[in-house]
Amino acid sequence: MIKKLDSAGRVVIPQSLREKHNIIPEETELKIEDKGNYIKISKIPENTCAICLTRKGEIEYKDQFYCKKCIKELVSQVIDE
Ligand SMILES: [Zn+2]
Repeated sequence: MIKKLDSAGRVVIPQSLREKHNIIPEETELKIEDKGNYIKISKIPENTCAICLTRKGEIEYKDQFYCKKCIKELVSQVIDE
């Protein structure tokens, strides 16, 4: 599938793909990564850690999920000060 950006730099994800992957406009978060010779756009799975975006978020705080490793790193920075 080849798509062109519009004049504002946006690309439209076709409706069939949005439906298949349950991508909801203005709600679903997408991760955009520079992979060197290409750009990867992926849907962030539900309950993914809001900091590292890779591990499962086990701790919920103010409508966001965080993994224990990121929480430990944050806490250690606060305690070290
Ligand atoms: Zn994390």
